[in-house]
Amino acid sequence: ARDATEPVDDTELAIEGALRPTSLDEFVGQQKVRGQLQLLLDAARIQNRPPDHILLAGPPGLGKTTLAMIVAHESERPLRLSSGPAIQHAGDLAALLSSLVPGEVLFIDEIHRMARSAEEMLYLAMEDFRIDIMVGKGAGATSIPLELAPFTLVGATTRSGLLPNPLRDRFGFTGHLEFYDEPELEKVIERSALVLGVDVPRDSLSEIARRSRGTPRIANRLLRRVRDYALVHGGGAATLQSVQAALELYDVDPIGLDRLDRAVLESLVRRFRGGPVGLSTLAVAVGEEAETVESVVEPYLVRIGFLGRTPRGRVAMPEAYAHLGVAHPDGALR
Ligand code: ADP
Repeated sequence: ARDATEPVDDTELAIEGALRPTSLDEFVGQQKVRGQLQLLLDAARIQNRPPDHILLAGPPGLGKTTLAMIVAHESERPLRLSSGPAIQHAGDLAALLSSLVPGEVLFIDEIHRMARSAEEMLYLAMEDFRIDIMVGKGAGATSIPLELAPFTLVGATTRSGLLPNPLRDRFGFTGHLEFYDEPELEKVIERSALVLGVDVPRDSLSEIARRSRGTPRIANRLLRRVRDYALVHGGGAATLQSVQAALELYDVDPIGLDRLDRAVLESLVRRFRGGPVGLSTLAVAVGEEAETVESVVEPYLVRIGFLGRTPRGRVAMPEAYAHLGVAHPDGALR
């Protein structure tokens, strides 16, 4: 699925890399998950073994990849990056697993999109550091066991509900990442501004934070657009005015909703009269994949109380009508 928050080119990727905190102490917010990870890492260190397998769940841009890098960094182990879509056959996974060095941290992003056959191989690998490789076909097929170096799997998923239970159960720990509040986002932006060498006054900081959709990746992205704008129009100063002008130029509304967020809401409220409407119908109406609507757009709209997920479909909440300036059909509710 296309993720609107993802880096669009190599330069952006490099900048994103430069903005990543490298230790748990530097990692802003997510206090619960941070504490849980710290304990896991400390225990592994005392026993001199690789940390348990870790599953990180939550919407894109909240810090899953960053945490995987921190796990490797803090436990002083090498890190290998892969992703579910890159593992299309059990053989892809076998090649990956058998090339790991002892103690390596293996990060698999979007682990819910891995091939089924690979999933099954992964169960055994996670549990016993062993895989069975099938050779031959039909009646003559045999399986050859292969010992693996012990490793720590860090899986990331935007949809933990999609993971089969046997896979979910094999993680020693699942961390659920939450959207960030404004003071936390201000810290992220302040830190990034320092790295990028932009001067961002207080009021501009909070304006960017308010419009970041609870997501550090978006906060960093908006900061870069503000920096561009200030550079071109304001002699480099990120004044509140330049923040507002820059964000308007990029279709980020006053509460941080982007074009796709608003398209979903508009469609729900106007075309489907507030719902309930099924996810796939809604996705077709806005010309997006259902998975993108479900894992990228909806979590934030649910979080701010604009959209409800019911067994009969998606519904618009009164707050959504108010934001769009549309009268709520049931006047009594307003
Ligand atoms: P995910 O893997 O969940 O999609 P990433 O780990 O790639 O998200 O984070 C996206 C960007 O946001 C990175 O540039 C990262 O530096 C920044 N970021 C995420 N979480 C934090 C945090 N808690 N503190 C500081 N920066 C963060």
